[in-house]
Amino acid sequence: MILKGLLGFILGSILGSFSNVIVYRTRENISIVTPNSFCENCHYSISWYEKIPIISYIFLKGRCSNCNAKIGRKHFIIELASGVLLSIVFLFSDNRNELIFLTIIFPVVVSISLIDIEELFIYDSMLMYIGIISLVFMLVNRNYEGIISFCVSCAIYFFIYTISNKAIGSGDILLSSLLALNLTPLKLYYFVSISFILGGIVALVFLLLRKANKDSKLAFAPFINISFFIVCTIL
Ligand SMILES: [Zn+2]
Repeated sequence: MILKGLLGFILGSILGSFSNVIVYRTRENISIVTPNSFCENCHYSISWYEKIPIISYIFLKGRCSNCNAKIGRKHFIIELASGVLLSIVFLFSDNRNELIFLTIIFPVVVSISLIDIEELFIYDSMLMYIGIISLVFMLVNRNYEGIISFCVSCAIYFFIYTISNKAIGSGDILLSSLLALNLTPLKLYYFVSISFILGGIVALVFLLLRKANKDSKLAFAPFINISFFIVCTIL
């Protein structure tokens, strides 16, 4: 049990670190595979021992070992939070195929959430990745009901998109529906409900704290992603 949680934490922090790379390189239009990780300030090629998630940040005191430039604290928080999140998934999930699926999509799901929070935008390349992996796992698991879930999700989100005057983005429709390929229609019901409950609660808190007004836009992808992981892991 402890070992499973620890494995989830280590893997999660590595994938969280990879999410930081995906977000930066997608924005800069650089390949995700090459070149080796480098300092964003002086372009110094980072050694393997400086890339250990969480630990390297602490030992380097959040600075580049070459030019001393600050490495954003955000990197450290994302690695730590990703470790915690995936360890929870590992502890609660008892379906091996589902666990492999969630682990494979995890870094891209985190990247989508981070970019949506900052830019209210989802990259097509990331949606395509989620779509391909979801389709493959739907076929492997022979969950053909997923096609019904996909269609129903498209219909629900498109309806909300139309009546709410585009309060959610077109990327949200695709993200939710592609993830739904791996859900039964009953789980889709919980998936959509939890997404909107979480989004509604956060929107209400923002309004009460006057951090937003009724015309503000709220990134919805993080709620879709959290809800999907809750439904897959717990239900
Ligand atoms: Zn540097």
